Amino acid sequence: MYQTIVIGAGIAGAVAARALAEAGGGKVLVLERRGHIGGNCYDRPDEYGILVHEYGPHIFHTNDEGVFKYLSRFTEWYLYPQGHQVVAKVDGGLIPIPFNLNTLHLVYGEEKGSVLEKKLIDAYGEGSRVGILELKKSEDADIRQIAEFVYENVFLRYTMKQWGQTPEEISPEVTGRVPVLISRDNRYFQDRYQGVPRDGFTPMFEKLLAHEDIEVQLGVEAKERVTLTEGGILLDGEAFRGNVIFTGALDELFDCRFGRLPYRSLRFDFEHLDKNDFQGHSVVNYTVSEDFTRITEFQYLTGQTGCSGTTIVREYPFAYSGTAGEIPYYAILDEENKMLYEKYRGLTDGLPNFHLLGRLAEYKYYNMDVMVRGALTLAERIMEEKR
Ligand SMILES: Cc1cc2nc3c(=O)[nH]c(=O)nc-3n(C[C@H](O)[C@H](O)[C@H](O)COP(=O)(O)OP(=O)(O)OC[C@H]3O[C@@H](n4cnc5c(N)ncnc54)[C@H](O)[C@@H]3O)c2cc1C
Repeated sequence: MYQTIVIGAGIAGAVAARALAEAGGGKVLVLERRGHIGGNCYDRPDEYGILVHEYGPHIFHTNDEGVFKYLSRFTEWYLYPQGHQVVAKVDGGLIPIPFNLNTLHLVYGEEKGSVLEKKLIDAYGEGSRVGILELKKSEDADIRQIAEFVYENVFLRYTMKQWGQTPEEISPEVTGRVPVLISRDNRYFQDRYQGVPRDGFTPMFEKLLAHEDIEVQLGVEAKERVTLTEGGILLDGEAFRGNVIFTGALDELFDCRFGRLPYRSLRFDFEHLDKNDFQGHSVVNYTVSEDFTRITEFQYLTGQTGCSGTTIVREYPFAYSGTAGEIPYYAILDEENKMLYEKYRGLTDGLPNFHLLGRLAEYKYYNMDVMVRGALTLAERIMEEKR
């Protein structure tokens, strides 16, 4: 009855299912273990009518015209006129990040800021983006001091919280990439399109999956329906000869037989406040103090107006342990873990119609736009093989 089974109704699974159904690939069965579609992009109105992102703030941003056009078939957009901007709380004040010339003036005051601005422009050129390791090599003590400020106040403690690392464990290569922007650009991303679906991500997913050849089953653990055997794939105990697109965690699929793939997880603490404004910004990063990494205030993220009160969420990172209810969010991409992943991937080598797609199945960090592109590419490849 089905030509394809897609496991997971996140952005990877939903786009792949739609692309295959539209290309005439036949009936697609989407199995999703959660009680909703959208994966980690899922949003919903809270009890006060405020649209919240259940799994942390998601901002769609891309330079990929094709991906933007594709998703625009399923949603209109609330595009941020000034791009997505993030500030960090440092010494009780708010400073724009990534660190740029506006930040420089706020931190050092107008007089010293102007002197330092000139030094940076003379040394690296206006509009450039310089890693702090590069700045640390400067012969000018003032420039080295800027690098030190960024390292201490923007990078170090934030990274320790996010990744649970000690300063010694943080690789110099990662440190080196922390940028200083020699410009007045306060945007967090440099992409052309930045925003969120105007009515939310979940309605966009509903439209994506609304196709006569797509059947979505929620609350279904795929392992209870789909079995991988030496000889091939079974659906409900019967041989299944179509394609299976798996977007879940690969180690879990094989009962973690070689050990768990390490991840960082997050706890989200939502709070509704009986006032019109909490922080005046969509996202404030706590790069120096507090146990949480950031606070998101949803009204500024989604552009929603006319609600009473405001809802915020604090994010607390911790090590994923696999306990029921925990969600693996960020793959910890070191060499050892990548090798472990490859060991699991090897178990699927003999199954040419079993495809791994998405942040969990590929053990990578993907932004949404890259995921959409990946799903469209896989669907095209599958259709070509069918021809
Ligand atoms: C806190 C956070 C913030 C982010 N912010 C941004 C952002 O601002 N911009 C951006 O572009 N990207 C952002 N991302 C990345 C974005 O979330 C991913 O690109 C996207 O979720 C990847 O989609 P996916 O389909 O691969 O995975 P998911 O969204 O995780 O979807 C996988 C789905 O598969 C289901 N599933 C898994 N295993 C099974 C199984 N065995 N049986 C049945 N169902 C199963 C899961 O329940 C889930 O619904 C963020 C990520 C995080 C963690």
